[in-house]
Amino acid sequence: MHTVLAGGVGAARYLLGALEAFDPAEVTAVVNVGDDITLHGLSISPDLDTCTYTLAGAIDPERGWGLVDESWQAMAELGRYGGESWFSLGDRDIGTHLYRTHRLGQGATLTEVTAEITAAWGLRCRLLPVTDDRIETRLTLVDGGEIGFQEYFVRLRHDVEVSSVRFVGAGEAVATDAALAAITEADTVVIAPSNPVVSIGPLLAVGGVDDAIRARRERNVAVSPIIGGKALKGPADRLLRELGEESSVLGVARRYRDLAATLVIDDIDRDLSDEIEAIGMRVIAMPTIMSEPGVAAALARACHAAGGSR
Ligand code: GDP
Ligand code: CA
Repeated sequence: MHTVLAGGVGAARYLLGALEAFDPAEVTAVVNVGDDITLHGLSISPDLDTCTYTLAGAIDPERGWGLVDESWQAMAELGRYGGESWFSLGDRDIGTHLYRTHRLGQGATLTEVTAEITAAWGLRCRLLPVTDDRIETRLTLVDGGEIGFQEYFVRLRHDVEVSSVRFVGAGEAVATDAALAAITEADTVVIAPSNPVVSIGPLLAVGGVDDAIRARRERNVAVSPIIGGKALKGPADRLLRELGEESSVLGVARRYRDLAATLVIDDIDRDLSDEIEAIGMRVIAMPTIMSEPGVAAALARACHAAGGSR
């Protein structure tokens, strides 16, 4: 089994490659839910949906989130009433949230609902929310105040300086049995090239996950989301700097050294290999910009070999 700790976009691209490289039945993603938000009474799980829509081939290619061929009539009507409209929900996407909200209201777990949603999209791999409990990523701003993740990411377009991040509810939340089994029973666990602070951070904060990952460090492989000192997209580079870490593959190595024995970095960062090895991780340098599935599939094969062979 090939298990991936997953946020949104970076993880979804990696998973596309894993599906090309392996039997889909052997691929499992344990997905962050710290970004989840309730808006207009709807339960929204952005990272789960980004993974689902991407793997279904239905993600909007330009925006990188939401469904292709969207229309926005519901949002327009919401605007008419003065409803909160900073978080765009397409008409098609709303169908997913209606279904999820209804099923959760009936008492289904997020794990069960996610299985139903992914089956309906024809996914042949498993997507598992890390927990069925609520956790919420919150960020304290240098200018004062604390905001939720989507307010930071979407409403303020992450154009504000952050002084700290916390995961509300993570202390009480427990990983699902399915998520823990996917970690402990995998040949290789891959920490996807997702945001280390706000995608992988909340996953590890859920009860049981960090211990389960550390216990099998030798067979875990992390892929750096930082390439040439920068995030390809989003605030991962800035968040690392704002929290006093380094926005480079070395910063990523320091964060992951106790969690994974191997770090995959982009060719462009190859010169830093010795310094990473001095931090205590083995290094694989190869193309990691997954602009096409072939690159992602090669990346997945390299990760699997690095983890599973030990
Ligand atoms: P979000 O939840 O949608 O913000 O997505 P993630 O946390 O999964 O991913 C955001 C991170 O993925 C950013 O730091 C990007 O640099 C990284 N990323 C996105 N695409 C790629 C890629 O093709 N290769 C690598 N190495 N990183 C990527
Ligand atoms: Ca996310």
